[in-house]
Amino acid sequence: MVGLEFNILGTSAGGGRRGQINLPHRAVQTPVFMPVGTAGTVKAVPQDVLETLGAEIILGNTYHLYLRPGHEAIRRMGGLHRFMSWPRAMLTDSGGFQVFSLAQLRKVTDEGVRFQSHLDGSSHFFTPEHSIDVQIALGADICMAFDECTEYPADRSRAEESLRLTMAWARRSLDHFRAHQHEVPWHDELGGRKQSLFGIVQGGMYKDLRRESAERLVEMDFDGYAIGGLSVGEPPELTLEMIAEVLPLLPADKPRYVMGVGYPDQIERYARMGVDMMDCVLPTRAARHGLLFTSEGRINIKGARYAEDQGPADPACNCPVCQRYSRAYLRHLMQAREALSGTLNSIHNLAYYLGIMERVRKSLAIKGSELAS
Ligand SMILES: [Zn+2]
Repeated sequence: MVGLEFNILGTSAGGGRRGQINLPHRAVQTPVFMPVGTAGTVKAVPQDVLETLGAEIILGNTYHLYLRPGHEAIRRMGGLHRFMSWPRAMLTDSGGFQVFSLAQLRKVTDEGVRFQSHLDGSSHFFTPEHSIDVQIALGADICMAFDECTEYPADRSRAEESLRLTMAWARRSLDHFRAHQHEVPWHDELGGRKQSLFGIVQGGMYKDLRRESAERLVEMDFDGYAIGGLSVGEPPELTLEMIAEVLPLLPADKPRYVMGVGYPDQIERYARMGVDMMDCVLPTRAARHGLLFTSEGRINIKGARYAEDQGPADPACNCPVCQRYSRAYLRHLMQAREALSGTLNSIHNLAYYLGIMERVRKSLAIKGSELAS
């Protein structure tokens, strides 16, 4: 079976690299920003628009899809790609982050986590094996090992204990994945192609724990590596320090993914340091609150100053929203609480984020070809 192929097409002195990840449903150009499709939808944005914007890979949240409509239902419908009619690549998280941030009455043991659904209070038990079973049923191109996202702040002993759990769960995730990955719903359809599994570096804000975590995961030999437990309330300098500490320890020939970041300047910076993949709810969540990212900085479209502003959200943007609608209209939609408001604002913000990565890719490719010539 063919695993994940990652080709590096260009590099820069700062460590940045342009590459291509060949996944079962799409060859994805990196560095890439992945819009978050929480419950089988990137909130308020239809799939055909995501394609138009150039999104090549999106996220699905295992916790949400497991609770509703349920992973077995999705398996019976051919997997998440077919269920939501998204033919391009997809990544599912392990469910761990939501179990720890949304679910109620959690009880963590070495075996797994018992928790109550935030929807109806029903009781569930998640183990690394179960998380992998759910992710195989959903059928994303890339699955994530089950981990505990260490909270911030966490004292040393708490971070050590959390890391011990995450490393044991990584091993179990990998073993179970290898034994069951042929059960993916599209196995026969895309014969020979298979899902990939990434390990997640944790360790709180302790550099030595981060190093230990990275080294142990690399020994286990995952298809790619993520840095998790960042953007959990720590100052941005610390986020940057942890990424800088871990990146050089991860194999250069495998994708590196920083989870849950960040603001536009941050994702650009991380991409230029050699991070290949990032995801964040920020562009879509902020959009629903009227916060637009533009080449002129952040604007709050609710502001009275835009009431009769006939210019586009961002004069430098060529997204479908900026080509067609004025700031005055976007402001009106928010004021009137029209459903279209979240859609248009989200489309622009996603276009802005995807555009940053496109620019970074272009600059890296130029440098790469200069180096080669
Ligand atoms: Zn735009």
